Amino acid sequence: MKVLVLNSGSSSIKYQLFRSEDWPVLAAGTISRIGEAESELKGSWIGVQGEQQSCRETSAIPDHGEGLARIAARLRDSGVLADLSELGAVGHRVVHGGEAFHRPTLVDDRVVAAIRGMIPLAPLHNPANLAGIEVARRLFPGVPQVAVFDTAFHQTMPPRAYRYAIPENLYREHRVRRYGFHGTSHHYVAKRAAAFLGRPLTECNLITLHLGNGASATAIRAGASVDTSMGLTPLEGLVMGTRCGDIDPAIHFFIANNLGLDNAALDDLLNRRSGLLGLCGVNDMREIQQRAAAGDERARLAVEVFCHRLRKYLGAYYAELGRVDAVVFTGGIGENDPLTRARTCSDLEAFGIYLDEQANASAERGERAISSAESPVKLLVIPTNEELEIAQEALAAVSGTTVD
Ligand code: ADP
Repeated sequence: MKVLVLNSGSSSIKYQLFRSEDWPVLAAGTISRIGEAESELKGSWIGVQGEQQSCRETSAIPDHGEGLARIAARLRDSGVLADLSELGAVGHRVVHGGEAFHRPTLVDDRVVAAIRGMIPLAPLHNPANLAGIEVARRLFPGVPQVAVFDTAFHQTMPPRAYRYAIPENLYREHRVRRYGFHGTSHHYVAKRAAAFLGRPLTECNLITLHLGNGASATAIRAGASVDTSMGLTPLEGLVMGTRCGDIDPAIHFFIANNLGLDNAALDDLLNRRSGLLGLCGVNDMREIQQRAAAGDERARLAVEVFCHRLRKYLGAYYAELGRVDAVVFTGGIGENDPLTRARTCSDLEAFGIYLDEQANASAERGERAISSAESPVKLLVIPTNEELEIAQEALAAVSGTTVD
């Protein structure tokens, strides 16, 4: 059985094809610049002799329908998906499931309508995700389509964590509350962390830190999300590559009043020109660390602000959970940047957090502990794999089981 994972953006489609028995990636690729004169398809796959193959094509791909047709043709011609009957499921990443979706869900007309109803909450993402779903339903008739939501894992948050202290009708009538995102990643690394600790997930209290270009922290009690740092949108919470994270909401009025920016300009300012980029002119943490090491004061401050905010969330979630079994680092920064991890975990021995500096600095890859052997709270690095999680969840939804 094979499972295709699709992540449809407004002008792109990313795909990965898995074999379900042992979950290797058989093929992966991206179509970018859909709708432009020169769209690009880049793909790689495992050839018939087991050798790695790749391709890069440029031509006009006017819409998602044509894009997915090209992907299907590429999978067929390369032999990794000779026949559609091999496909057990298509898993779709869907950004916003609102309060309607608590788990991966088989797509039917009602589900499509519900995802469409969520467009006001995610006006950029949900229409693109829907385009991928609708095209895949047409192109792969009879193959079960499963929507896997970024928000679903956080639907276990209690009202005290998801409600904003604003007039109630904004929640009741306009669905303004905290939803949280990156749920697929937080859930995946939580399951892997539980396996690493040798305990059922339902017996684990964890703080998971997904630190990539987007970044979020989640408090997990007995395997369920009880608080997370992103809110109605992914703008809230940690400092990110280009997003500001938490700021005084009155800054919006201040900027609008004093700089005369309209909503679109404010959106651009806070989502795409703030965060690490706003602080030091660069959003790539690796480059920022290099500049900081070379004495660049702005880069040094950007790292300090990033880690200061992260420690605040670590402390807050520690207080919420009371007992923490492990803190989990994931995402490009969490997996690869020992300096961020060290700064975040330093001087927390009073909380039972003891970093093993050698293990933290080691070039080892893969799932590993970076706390000292006697540390009551384990510090783990767990590489995330959202595509694999979507593939496994999609197949489980088709067979009516759950993924451990
Ligand atoms: P995305 O959210 O786009 O998936 P990633 O999870 O790939 O992002 O994370 C990208 C971030 O990880 C970038 O800021 C990048 O600089 C950072 N990163 C990757 N490798 C390293 C490294 N060795 N040291 C520091 N930062 C790193």
